Amino acid sequence: MKSLLLESTIFVSIALGMVVSCSAQEQKNSAAEAADKAFRDPKIAAALQQVSAARIQANIEKLVSFGTRSTLSAQDPASLAAGRGIGAARDWIKAEFEHYSKDCGGCLEVKTDSFTEAPADRIPKATKITNVYAVLKGTDAENAKRIVLVTGHYDSRNSDTFDITGDAPGANDDGSGTAVSLESARVLSRLKFPATVVFLAVAGEEQGLNGSQHFAKMAKEQGRQLEAVLNNDIVGGDKGAEQDHTVVRVFSEGLSAAATERDISRIRGLGGENDSGSRQLARYITEVGRTYDVGVKPMLVFRLDRYLRGGDHSSFNQQGFAAVRFTEFREDFHHQHQNVRIENGIEFGDTPKFVDFDYVAHVARLNAAVLASLALAPAPPAEVHLLTKDLENDSTITWNASPGGRAAEYEILWRATTSPEWEHVQKIGSATRATLKLSKDNVIFAVRAVDREGHRSLPVVPVPER
Ligand SMILES: [Zn+2]
Repeated sequence: MKSLLLESTIFVSIALGMVVSCSAQEQKNSAAEAADKAFRDPKIAAALQQVSAARIQANIEKLVSFGTRSTLSAQDPASLAAGRGIGAARDWIKAEFEHYSKDCGGCLEVKTDSFTEAPADRIPKATKITNVYAVLKGTDAENAKRIVLVTGHYDSRNSDTFDITGDAPGANDDGSGTAVSLESARVLSRLKFPATVVFLAVAGEEQGLNGSQHFAKMAKEQGRQLEAVLNNDIVGGDKGAEQDHTVVRVFSEGLSAAATERDISRIRGLGGENDSGSRQLARYITEVGRTYDVGVKPMLVFRLDRYLRGGDHSSFNQQGFAAVRFTEFREDFHHQHQNVRIENGIEFGDTPKFVDFDYVAHVARLNAAVLASLALAPAPPAEVHLLTKDLENDSTITWNASPGGRAAEYEILWRATTSPEWEHVQKIGSATRATLKLSKDNVIFAVRAVDREGHRSLPVVPVPER
């Protein structure tokens, strides 16, 4: 990844007891070279070119054509035949994934996963809810166990959560996010990745995040190695006057929802409030955004979601997975969760006329670039420890080799405790231990794995080893 990381000029001890001095110039050359030849993968750049605003528009308009996609709306054969209701939308999404699969020689495994949700606050009677997804299985047996996932919710609602027949176009919320999952599947299915990519469309979001909860629990129960979840919800770039079409917000939790009392105690002691897995994923997204020309800039928001509001990524956070939410810069509340109408000259309703399809395409490019970068990268290093047995001003970090055998080398990152993003990078080579002439008291460290070409894993912040 091309990054703004500064070259380090410090001494590093790469192997046990060996201290290596790197001049500023050497550092600069190697980092610049790496940035040029390795960080921007031409395969990824070419795939991003294939993302089509016209296709995204057609997909969003198709989703809107089902009239309502309320989770409580019709799924019976007559409604399927009439093309109205969530059942018809579900079948169309599945067929669309199957088309993409046909175009790549059956490379996608297309699945539906239905379950019955018992009555709850916003579910008046037992309701069948179906997630639809496509799996692009990794090409490397070991690395195929690692999964990166993109999701959007295909259900919609209007002013009344319980209205199951009235129009609920849901073009932006969340036809846009569903279109991102679909378009990512279409362009990435032409490539091969060592790790697995899942393209998901969930239902039940508006009734209580039911589809995403079901999927995340299943992933946890099955012990899936879900490394990253990208949730796109309201990425339509509403055409309101105050919209900023150059920016997409990326929300990430600070304290993991799955943190135990022991974790929280450690986080409190070490100042780790800003270093959850989700936050590392958010930082990774900004680096990818700088590396590839996607047309939109990620704006990190260090908060789980919009103020007092929620979304599907939190279902994954609850199960301990790194997950973030993408949302347009400025929402227009006349255009979501509203019956389509004109009142006092104001147009209400979530219809395609307010969606900026070029913007959705930019967000899809950013998502696809992140998915591809992670799926091509080695697994993050394991068991990353900062040695603290002796009081000293140097910092020694050890780790286990990246599982799966794809790492060629490692890099140590660090930043001031007050900095939002990684500021410095030090190449370590293939060693799994390094001592830096830097005090652990003053900075936050992380280690990442790099493959031969230059794809970077998510960074891992060390835990203390006494
Ligand atoms: Zn939504």
